Amino acid sequence: MLKGKVALITGGTRGIGLETVRVFKENHAEVILFGSKKESVDNAIIKLKNEGYEVSGYYPNLSNYEDINNTIKKIIKKFGHIDILINNAGVSANKKIEETTSEDFAKIMNLNVNAIFNMTKAVVPYMKENKDGVILNTSSMVSIYGQPSGVGYPASKFAVNGITKSLARELAVFNIRVNAVAPGVIKTDMIASLPEEQIAPIIKTIPIGRIGEPRDVANAFLFLASNLSSYITGIILSVDGAARS
Ligand code: NAD
Repeated sequence: MLKGKVALITGGTRGIGLETVRVFKENHAEVILFGSKKESVDNAIIKLKNEGYEVSGYYPNLSNYEDINNTIKKIIKKFGHIDILINNAGVSANKKIEETTSEDFAKIMNLNVNAIFNMTKAVVPYMKENKDGVILNTSSMVSIYGQPSGVGYPASKFAVNGITKSLARELAVFNIRVNAVAPGVIKTDMIASLPEEQIAPIIKTIPIGRIGEPRDVANAFLFLASNLSSYITGIILSVDGAARS
């Protein structure tokens, strides 16, 4: 479904991002992953190689536009174009407001929001030149319902939805589609390591009766990245089994 496409995925070293790398490779895309540091990027590349997937990786500072821009230039030099950008890197929070420092709040906004701005600003000129592109953002179920603690996280994901809907309107004329996926509770490392007695009550709150797999989200990204969704832009696609946080 993605033959001939070059996809760049931030937060591609583990969890949802890593599974999306696999699904995109299975669908014949060229994939470049970004991670937070050299070690995690190298480890992910080796892991994927052992599974039969060849990918490239970089670790620019996502809060620094210049650093990102220089990395994007290298990627364009090597691959010629970037067709799909997935802004997936993110951190969450769960402290009550009195315990949350301004630094905590700023740190979340910096990665979950500013990094999307920086990445998108650096990649869009190349997509405009090609008159073709897909930008996908990882939002969250909390962007719809909020959450009872860790206010910075839902605040950042509401902003992700705002960026998605606004850029969809700004960039549609250049044949660039912008959408987001809003996962519910997904079995990444943190959830997978919880004991059964902590998992069971979580599952009870999810009508579909199970926790989501990273592949559930990766498949949604595949749909939104492919031509199957050619007339869809500006949506926030819930992938949450009807969970309501
Ligand atoms: P994860 O912690 O397994 O992976 C996070 C990824 O982000 C890693 O690849 C990491 O390298 C990258 N990252 C973290 N800090 C970074 C930094 N400072 N600079 C650059 N990269 C950094 O998380 P995940 O659960 O796979 O989450 C991926 C996305 O999905 C996030 O945006 C998260 O908010 C969202 N999400 C996750 C869930 C869930 O239940 N797992 C639910 C809703 C939304």
